[in-house]
Amino acid sequence: MGGVPELPEVEITARLLDRALAGAEIESATAPGINALKTFDPPLSQLTGHRIAAVRRRGKHVIVETDGALALLIHLMSAGRLQLYEKRAGPRDRTSRLLVRLADGRELRLREFGSKQAAWVKLLAAAELEQDGALATLGPEAWPDPPSLADVLDVARPLHTLLRDQRTIAGIGRSWVDEILWRAKLSPFKRGNDLDDDERARLREAIVSTLTDALAHYEQVVQLPVPDKLPMPLEIHRHEGEPCPRCGETLKSVHFEDYVIAYCPACQTDGRVLKDRRLSRLLR
Ligand SMILES: [Zn+2]
Repeated sequence: MGGVPELPEVEITARLLDRALAGAEIESATAPGINALKTFDPPLSQLTGHRIAAVRRRGKHVIVETDGALALLIHLMSAGRLQLYEKRAGPRDRTSRLLVRLADGRELRLREFGSKQAAWVKLLAAAELEQDGALATLGPEAWPDPPSLADVLDVARPLHTLLRDQRTIAGIGRSWVDEILWRAKLSPFKRGNDLDDDERARLREAIVSTLTDALAHYEQVVQLPVPDKLPMPLEIHRHEGEPCPRCGETLKSVHFEDYVIAYCPACQTDGRVLKDRRLSRLLR
């Protein structure tokens, strides 16, 4: 898979599109092929003639604001990309879920790769955006200024689960959580309410520095259109069997039905190698 978009991937997408699209006039907006549009009123045709005011991120969502008091709320899910093309690619693109044509000849496409068609779009009144269920349930942003972890992680659930729970803290998913916990030298299965002050401080620092570094990398290597395959600079996630970049110990993994946790036994679990079955029960 070309990389599931999480906070850094959605943030670089929004940033680059904001720089490129602010002020651009919308000629038409349609949802061709399998319909990703989850709202029907107002219709997409209401966007015609309006200008894009800003593109920003909230959690793992992209928000395209227009000057017409309407906003597009977009979730890329596991395999969506929001791609800006300088020229029109033509009407027959079966991977496009949303097609926004601009008056200057450019074209913004929500494209989706892989077998699952899950990416979605909502057209909402800008004033109602924050009340939409997708945004209203989100916890505070993980980046750039995460909330007090003493408050949000004070729960008897494993860190790996807690950090990926968008209601707890927004933006982190299955890839970056492995990098963050490795950087903080914390076990994925340590309970949120078992952290001491020093561990909480390490974790907060790891969240900020890991996501900041990822974004700095993307600023160097990603240009529009955002590539189908994201150049995610992961060192731990999906690197089981390789040496730990810090201590050289072999990275291990725990497999679950639809995801894999990677970790360094020496750096994170006091040398213990975690068994799949026991821990899959612990993670429930
Ligand atoms: Zn290590």
